Amino acid sequence: MTNAQGPAPTFRSDVTVELVRSAATDTDVLWAARVSTAGEQSLDAIGQDPEKSKGLINFLMRDRHGTPFEHNSMTFFISAPIFVFREFHRHRTGWSYNEESGRYRELQPVFYVPAEERKLVQVGRPGKYEFLEGTPEQHEAATASMERAYTAAYTEYREMLDAGIAREVARAVLPVGLFSSMYATCNARSLMHFLSLRTKDERGKMPTFPQREIEMVAEQMEQLWAGLMPLTHAAFSEHGRLAP
Ligand SMILES: Cc1cc2nc3c(=O)[nH]c(=O)nc-3n(C[C@H](O)[C@H](O)[C@H](O)COP(=O)(O)OP(=O)(O)OC[C@H]3O[C@@H](n4cnc5c(N)ncnc54)[C@H](O)[C@@H]3O)c2cc1C
Repeated sequence: MTNAQGPAPTFRSDVTVELVRSAATDTDVLWAARVSTAGEQSLDAIGQDPEKSKGLINFLMRDRHGTPFEHNSMTFFISAPIFVFREFHRHRTGWSYNEESGRYRELQPVFYVPAEERKLVQVGRPGKYEFLEGTPEQHEAATASMERAYTAAYTEYREMLDAGIAREVARAVLPVGLFSSMYATCNARSLMHFLSLRTKDERGKMPTFPQREIEMVAEQMEQLWAGLMPLTHAAFSEHGRLAP
């Protein structure tokens, strides 16, 4: 649907993650680890003894031999609000990013609103706070405020574009709840570090405090990664969910 000001704003509560390309298997870890002792013959040994392979991956994880987990690559296409990407892009090591441009294309009015199950009330102090369920009234208030603010901001954006103002200038009025998209490429080691900070899991050795929306992205990435590298994923969780 469109109106005089461009397409009508839409509101979403989900984030999406797609695995667009990968060269990432448990075998890649074994190959990299064994080359130091077995040279090229290590390739033949892989797959011959699954229990030994599992044992080696567990040993590498437990003793934090990290580099064998770097010889692989995964590219994800992620759609999420800009405030999630601001947190995401703080992860510098072993990551490559390309995000859609607000200079070269007109931004589409897709905005984030919290789902009913998103906890809304923060109690406690920084580093120690927890989140509690919001009441139905609080959910209604949050959704209504956000939708009003998003719609007003988008109307101003469109009006500036209609007045001939450059996209890169007009975008200044758009809020961080606007959806963006990016490709993010990483390896298993850098992904494990990201997951160690951006997911909450009782098997984790360290306490974590991820914002729920980046955790929603992280959970989908973890599930896709677990399908590619099940032994590495299992060892990560078993050994405290810290990057080796
Ligand atoms: C719950 C939470 C709250 C946060 N709150 C804030 C906040 O209030 N303000 C804020 O600015 N940020 C905040 N951050 C972001 C945080 O400070 C990190 O920037 C982010 O988590 C990325 O972590 P990282 O630097 O370990 O990751 P990466 O950049 O991927 O680095 C991975 C690892 O490489 C090593 N490394 C990378 N660069 C260097 C370097 N220059 N020198 C030495 N070692 C290096 C470190 O061992 C590092 O752990 C928060 C993060 C979390 C999870």
